[in-house]
Amino acid sequence: MLDVSLLYVEDDLFIRNMLVNILSKNVREIHTAENGLEGFMMYEKLRPDIVLTDIRMPIMDGLEMAAKIKALKKDAPIIVTTAYGDTENLLRAIDIGIDSYVLKPIDKNKLLRSFKRYADEIELTKRLQEQENATVTIQALLRAAIEQSPSGILVFDAPTGNIRIANAAALSIRGETNAKLTNISMIEQPEKWNFFHADGRRYKYYELPQSLAIMNGSTVKDVEMIIKRDSGEIRWVIASAAPVMDSKNNIVASILILQDITERRSLADQLHQAQKMEAVGQLTGGIAHDFNNILTAIIGYGSLTKNNLSPDDQNRLYLDQILNAAEKASVLTKSLLAFSRKQILSPKQVNLNDIILGTERLLSRLIGEDIQLRMDLHNEDIMVFVDPGQIEQVIMNLATNARDAMPEGGTLTVATSLSPIKERGFEGVKPDKIYALLRITDTGVGMDEMTLNRIFEPFFTTKEKGKGTGLGLAMVYGIIKQHNGYIFVSSYRTKGTDFRIYIPLVSKTFTEAKDNERDENDIPYGTETVLLAEDSEDVRAITKEILLNHGYKVIEAIDGEEAIIKFKANKEDIDLLLFDVIMPKKNGKDAYEQIRKLKPDIKAIFTSGYATEILSKRNMLEEGINFLPKPVSPNILLRKIREVLDRDK
Ligand code: ADP
Ligand code: MG
Repeated sequence: MLDVSLLYVEDDLFIRNMLVNILSKNVREIHTAENGLEGFMMYEKLRPDIVLTDIRMPIMDGLEMAAKIKALKKDAPIIVTTAYGDTENLLRAIDIGIDSYVLKPIDKNKLLRSFKRYADEIELTKRLQEQENATVTIQALLRAAIEQSPSGILVFDAPTGNIRIANAAALSIRGETNAKLTNISMIEQPEKWNFFHADGRRYKYYELPQSLAIMNGSTVKDVEMIIKRDSGEIRWVIASAAPVMDSKNNIVASILILQDITERRSLADQLHQAQKMEAVGQLTGGIAHDFNNILTAIIGYGSLTKNNLSPDDQNRLYLDQILNAAEKASVLTKSLLAFSRKQILSPKQVNLNDIILGTERLLSRLIGEDIQLRMDLHNEDIMVFVDPGQIEQVIMNLATNARDAMPEGGTLTVATSLSPIKERGFEGVKPDKIYALLRITDTGVGMDEMTLNRIFEPFFTTKEKGKGTGLGLAMVYGIIKQHNGYIFVSSYRTKGTDFRIYIPLVSKTFTEAKDNERDENDIPYGTETVLLAEDSEDVRAITKEILLNHGYKVIEAIDGEEAIIKFKANKEDIDLLLFDVIMPKKNGKDAYEQIRKLKPDIKAIFTSGYATEILSKRNMLEEGINFLPKPVSPNILLRKIREVLDRDK
């Protein structure tokens, strides 16, 4: 049985019935008509697969009908039955485009063979059509999948390297539009897509994963690359490439898949960076603290010895050298303490703009004549609670670096404004909290990634020996952190560098700690009794020595607990507590609190090598507690003691 429908047009009823009878066993569907007109109308309605028609018929003959059908459907299969020798009609049929005839009387098998030929053709066409439909669907699917993919996808023709497809994600990584970036050859214009190695080298065409796929048929997986946007911004991607083969295993294209990992990377970087800074901070903080105690002893004993020498003693010179060196060491220690956020701050409520204006003259002198200084300050006061000296230090350190980065001159801009933290993906930042933003920008040589990653580390410097200490930015970092601020930097090679510092705005007024400046030579004496608690033996000994030399009586304690015991034993005699803050067993602050319960108006001075949690809590500053940062020079100590003892409660 053939899976076709047949329209059979024949005016002779006898022949028609006979053939229908024979064919109905072999053909799925048979319709009949008596003349050309009826046949044509049925064709229009039913669209049978095959038409079989007699030629001579009333009303409309078979060939006329065939012509009309061909006009409807050019390749409609039409078979005519014709009598032997009817040449005239045969020629007409050829004109009309009929390609099949059966001679009368009809041979059933011959007829069925031509049906079969048509049936096969019809089947084939149907299958081809189905296949084509499927291909179109698959293509549409693939196109949609590529276009919608969140990963960047690029398809390159082989062997030309011409970019055939770049999906939206790929274009957005590159930060450009379609027109510029497709239909260009990667061989001729490899720079168009700006691929760089992780170390900053530009990719050569033959190094690119997609080129390897085209040239060697190799598959490349998970390479970290950089794509640079025209703005200079860089995006980190993980790239994989594979060749595309045709059925004969020829490489016809390669496909490159890009995953943008810039944000993820910067978060991981920040975490890593923060951990590193924390660890280095701990270490330097610890060293600096112990170092301070040692310096206190050196400066103390040195000063005492100097005081004991006669004015014309030769050794005075040597002692001055020792004290100078110790002074330098103490400056170094201070920067380390600044970095490790262990400095004692004297914060005040101030207008940030005033601090900056106060540094203007110093700044212009520092940067020299070739560099232009631009001040772009917010037009209203920006009130912050900071240690002005420390913020000045920050500005000076940044300006010094900017100067070094602009040996040929340029512009240094110092700007202030109010702004939320705009840098994205930074943890622990409230998105809409407004900060004071201090921005210091230069037009200097800029930095590469490798340098950028390390600039805040203490002792990291790219400057030659003697020129850089590598402590400038470490201090800046520590100071800003200690002020609960944030610091960000962006820098582009040859374009310049932009430091952005966010400092919390003032919400509360704090009392200012007063510093009395007095004449250097006016060293005060006293007769009062001081309870000295200090765990470092060196520092205790030298402090005791200084106090005794200046008339005071001293009771010593080696930790907080002993201080309480000694106080209880000498309650009436003791006029002043001189406590180190960090001591074993009981810290200075706790010991003081306990003693204050016994004698509420007891006076106290604290010394410390660093501001610990206990100290940095603002409540202590509010109470107007007396602090002396270590190393304490004897004169400052003696003056502070006098000042506190003479102050009425
Ligand atoms: P130092 O200035 O002693 O080298 P810093 O901690 O101040 O130490 O700076 C560390 C490094 O950071 C510098 O050696 C320099 O490579 C880089 N750097 C800092 N600021 C800038 C800047 N504005 N432009 C270019 N490079 C800078
Ligand atoms: Mg510096």
